[in-house]
Amino acid sequence: MTDKPVQTRDPLVESADFQRALIDWFVADGRDYPWRRTADPYAILVSELMLQQTQIATVLERRYFERWLERFPDVAALADAPETDVLKQWEGLGYYNRARNLQKAAQVVVGEHGGEFPDSLEKIHALPGVGRYTAGAVMSFAFDRPAPIVDGNVARVFARLFDWRDAIEITVSQKQLWSWAEALLPEKSVREYNSALMELGQRVCTKSAPDCHECPVASFCVTRSPESLPRKKAARETVHVIEHALFAVSENRILLEQESGSRRKGLWRLPLLSESLAVGLPVLLKTRYAITHHRVDLIVHQAETQQGKVVDPTLLNDWPTRQWIDLETEYEAIAMPSPFRKAVDRVLAMKREAEQFRLS
Ligand code: SF4
Repeated sequence: MTDKPVQTRDPLVESADFQRALIDWFVADGRDYPWRRTADPYAILVSELMLQQTQIATVLERRYFERWLERFPDVAALADAPETDVLKQWEGLGYYNRARNLQKAAQVVVGEHGGEFPDSLEKIHALPGVGRYTAGAVMSFAFDRPAPIVDGNVARVFARLFDWRDAIEITVSQKQLWSWAEALLPEKSVREYNSALMELGQRVCTKSAPDCHECPVASFCVTRSPESLPRKKAARETVHVIEHALFAVSENRILLEQESGSRRKGLWRLPLLSESLAVGLPVLLKTRYAITHHRVDLIVHQAETQQGKVVDPTLLNDWPTRQWIDLETEYEAIAMPSPFRKAVDRVLAMKREAEQFRLS
C-alpha cells in the first residue's frame, strides 16, 4: 500500500494515547455480540472456545452461543450433562474436543472450586482446554482485569504495527508478540481495550484488505506493506483421502457407527468401508469436505443391489460400534459431524423424491 498513513508516534512510548485511541474507537463503533452483553466467566469461556476455530458469523447465525446457554446455563448443568448431549449441542461447530474440554473444565470448576469460577489467571489457565489466550480473554472480558491476549487477529495487528518480519509461529515471534501485548496493556478498561484490539484485526486490519485510512491507530503503525504481513511458515500440504460409506436403511432405521478416534470420538456417522468392500455397491452420492489439512471425497454407497438384496450381510451387523438408529425418534437427537449429517439428509431426500415419483 503506497498511500498508507505514515507512522508518527511510537505506541510503546505513547502507550496511553495508543490505548485511548483503540478504546474510544471501540466504544463508538464496537460490535454488539451476545457474549459482550455478559460478564459471566462461564459464558465468556463458552464463547471463546466456540470462536476458536469457528467464524463469528456461523456462531451468530445458528445461535450456537444462546442455545448452549439455554441447554447448559451454568457450570453445574454442563458438568452433570451426558457427553452425548454435549456433543449434540456442539454439532456443526466441528473440532469436538473443544466441547469435551468445556465439559471437563466445568467439572473441575465444580469439583475443585466448589462451583465458583476461579478469578485468577493461573487457575483459569489450569482448566482443561484453556490456553494462555483463552485465560487472558476470560480474565479481561469477565473480570475486567489486566491480562494480555494474543490470538490470530491480535498477532496480525502487532506484526504490522511493529513491522515484524519473522514467521509468527516461531518461538521468538510468539515471545515478542506476547511481550508487546503486555507492554501495551492498560490498567483500566481492559475489557474494552482487548475487545478493540481483536475487533481491529477482524474488521479493519484484515488479512487481505487492511483499511489503514479507517484505522484508529494508523499513526502508530510502522509497516509500509501491511498485506505482506504477518509472515507464516509454509502451510502443511493438503492430503487427499477417499472415504467409502455405506447407506443402509431398514424398517425406517438407518445403520450408523460411532466414531472411536480422538477427534470425533462419540459422534455418529455412516459406516465406513474399505475400498475393496465398496466395489460393486451402487453409488448414491459423492461429496467433498475438508478437515484440518485433509480434503476428503466422501462416496456414499447403497447397501442393496438394484434387486433389493443386501450385498453382503457381514457389512451390516458385524461391528460392535454399529447400531440401527430409528429415523423418527433417534436420528435428530444424536450428534453427527456436519458432512455426514448433510450426506444422510441429502440421500434421504433423494429417496423420498424417488418414492413420490414412483407413486405418482
Ligand atoms: S489497519 Fe493494520 S496495517 Fe493498517 S494502519 Fe492499522 S494496524 Fe497498521
